[in-house]
Amino acid sequence: MNAKSNLHTHSVYCDGKDTPRRLVETALEKGFGTLGFSGHSHTAFDESWCMSRENTLLYRSEIARLKEEYSGRIRILCGVEQDYYSDMSPEGYDYVIGSVHYVMARGLFVPVDESAELQLESAEKYFCGDMYAFAAEYFRTVADVVNRTGADIIGHFDLIAKFNEGGRLFDETDPRYLRPAEAAALKLIKTGRPFELNYGAVARGLRSEPYPSAPLRRFIEDNGGRFIVTSDCHDSTLLDFGIDREIS
Ligand SMILES: [Zn+2]
Ligand SMILES: [Zn+2]
Repeated sequence: MNAKSNLHTHSVYCDGKDTPRRLVETALEKGFGTLGFSGHSHTAFDESWCMSRENTLLYRSEIARLKEEYSGRIRILCGVEQDYYSDMSPEGYDYVIGSVHYVMARGLFVPVDESAELQLESAEKYFCGDMYAFAAEYFRTVADVVNRTGADIIGHFDLIAKFNEGGRLFDETDPRYLRPAEAAALKLIKTGRPFELNYGAVARGLRSEPYPSAPLRRFIEDNGGRFIVTSDCHDSTLLDFGIDREIS
């Protein structure tokens, strides 16, 4: 029995490229034992990349159908990537990945991971030009993600560093960055939930290492945190990206 699995998979029901069936077929070709889908939960204030209310229902019924059809060949799970500010319940899924994609600033939802330009613009607009203040607000929100979403898995812990390869936006060794990140990590470790070792940004060529970055990964490990490897797949050709190198 092959141990390969991925629990962070997006399909055409949100912002992924492929149908769930195509992803299941790819998983079989690649020798997966388990494939977990994790559509983006609905966020009413920004529907650009999440599942619409209607797609959420369609998604759940299609995954249920595939589960039956492929039973005995591969274990299929119907999960959700629950955004911190989602307005739909995470109940009724096989598992929940809890993720923060927005922070609240002056009553507005500010995207964390849209682009480097928007990050800088948002820091300017809402945090007096201070990226560290933006990051601190992000980690304050992340610290509460299990409490808020009931997550089984903690999604891309340091997503705020998505566009920070080479330290182009801020210094990831600066205590102003590390302190709030470590405080969030300690709080989340206590929940006993595993953190993702998430290869999404590496697969897209944005980062050279998975989330969380090496210093935070070490900090989490040293303090008793556990990891689960995921590819954060949006494209079936990258379904096992990072999975192989971590389990071999
Ligand atoms: Zn995410
Ligand atoms: Zn995702």
